Amino acid sequence: MAAITMKNIVKRYGDGFPAVNEVSLDVRDGEFMILVGPSGCGKSTLLRMIVGLEDITSGEMLIGGKVVNKIAPRQRNLSMVFQNYALYPHLTVFENIAFPLRLAKLPNEEVKRRVTETAELLELTDHLERKPANLSGGQRQRVAMGRAIVRQADAFLFDEPLSNLDAKLRGQMRTEISRLQRRLGVTTVYVTHDQTEAMTLGDRVAVLRKGLLQQVGSPRELYEEP
Ligand code: ADP
Ligand code: ADP
Repeated sequence: MAAITMKNIVKRYGDGFPAVNEVSLDVRDGEFMILVGPSGCGKSTLLRMIVGLEDITSGEMLIGGKVVNKIAPRQRNLSMVFQNYALYPHLTVFENIAFPLRLAKLPNEEVKRRVTETAELLELTDHLERKPANLSGGQRQRVAMGRAIVRQADAFLFDEPLSNLDAKLRGQMRTEISRLQRRLGVTTVYVTHDQTEAMTLGDRVAVLRKGLLQQVGSPRELYEEP
């Protein structure tokens, strides 16, 4: 687990108006933070700068108290969940979840232990030998999440992970993500343009508009004002 601290973060693409403009935000250890705002407000850019997929024009990004501006994505020990969760169709659920651990060349015993644990958490234990084609949409989404959490990263980053799902599945997955985050207590930053997700998922919500941080507060503070 690690706190994520953004100090006066700026991102300019070319010489236009900054996509992210002097954003300072503190995501506490174990906190579930939502980044919300209309399309084009800079949410994904900010998330990509946390992960290291995008250079920071100016400002400081700290993870676990350490400045990471110059640290490569792979060295940051973060886990990112995208909206297009591509599973490997020819691999079993077990091997899909195990994939990042195989890449990291972990010993077999360790892989088995961690995948088993993760599958239990996500109620996938009975499906470990199946292929993705034989799973429901919700199960596939859980496998994708399993792959993200199995690495035991210091923080989870979600980029609109539910936007391609139908309403019913989206509701189920919201509950699932919330339960999992609370259970694991891992620092989480979750990008969405969906008000319902913003209101129901996070401990706190950061509202972005045109690259500027407009408001930060609990869902209650932001959405139930008199
Ligand atoms: P959001 O995730 O809130 O939809 P983005 O972070 O994707 O917003 O984009 C913020 C702004 O930066 C937008 O104006 C977008 O067009 C611009 N932008 C994003 N990525 C790039 C890029 N690679 N090159 C140039 N402009 C970009
Ligand atoms: P979303 O709104 O879902 O974040 P976008 O359609 O804005 O996605 O962006 C998709 C990809 O295109 C991103 O990788 C982003 O960096 C890039 N992009 C967005 N806006 C621009 C832009 N104005 N110029 C170049 N690339 C862009």
